[in-house]
Amino acid sequence: MTFDEFIKQFLTEEQCRDYLYRLRFPEGFVCPKCGNTKTWPVGEVLFECSQCGRQTSVISGIIFQDTRKPLRTWFVAIWWIATQKNGASAKGLQQVLGLDCYETAWTWLHKIRRAMVFPNRSKLSGVVEVDETYVGGEENDGKRGRGTENKILVVVAVELDANKKTGRVRMSVIPNASKDSLKAFVENNIKKGTTIVTDGWASYSFLTPDGYSHTVVSKKHTDSEDKMLPHVHTIISLLKRWLSGTHQGAVSEKHMQAYLDEYVFRFNRRKFAERGLLFHRLLECAMKVSPVTYDDLVE
Ligand SMILES: [Zn+2]
Repeated sequence: MTFDEFIKQFLTEEQCRDYLYRLRFPEGFVCPKCGNTKTWPVGEVLFECSQCGRQTSVISGIIFQDTRKPLRTWFVAIWWIATQKNGASAKGLQQVLGLDCYETAWTWLHKIRRAMVFPNRSKLSGVVEVDETYVGGEENDGKRGRGTENKILVVVAVELDANKKTGRVRMSVIPNASKDSLKAFVENNIKKGTTIVTDGWASYSFLTPDGYSHTVVSKKHTDSEDKMLPHVHTIISLLKRWLSGTHQGAVSEKHMQAYLDEYVFRFNRRKFAERGLLFHRLLECAMKVSPVTYDDLVE
């Protein structure tokens, strides 16, 4: 689907509302008050039970709640954000939507980013490389380590596919490189029984007793750090380039996880050509994300 085809499908508020309605009630609407299944639309986001008159909003409790902008503008925003190969900036979104206010574009982008982690996604498996890195703060590339101040610690996992090429990735901000922090990330993102490849950092010693097969690569066998865990280190450099390029490196600790989520969303779908389906999936997730305000985000 091209942008033109997309636009033609959502020319009116009614078309957008009907689409949300079907996403929200895939098995058909049942009135919570009287059990009736017939409704008619009232205004742009409401519909009314034909029997008892109870009104329900198609956007209550989801990210579009309290919006003063047309649904159609939101749809275009989600389409545009879903289909940017190299990441979406607030400035770019502001231009595409013709918004007067930069803060609005910035808030929308953050809201939509929160929909980028799809629920029930399957865990990484097979062979997975894991390592930590520091991002943000001043540029001093090549300084990996576990004691650097003023930087945000991120743990990265990279799945290898059958051809030993990079498959899916996962990333998370962690408070420190302790066993507890790493264990929580591994258990949330990697299936038990997976072969996990790490360096010799002692905190990873939980892996074998925890049901994983642990391979430790030590520096003796190879000449450089990057050769030890080549796939995860490639992803780490791509992430750093993306943060300093698309986002000028200006990412605070509070928002870092959202940026990582966006990166992972795009990376894991880099070969995904069905843009219409990507829009549909992102909108579907947006329906499950609770509303958040500009104040919540900057607080
Ligand atoms: Zn009713």
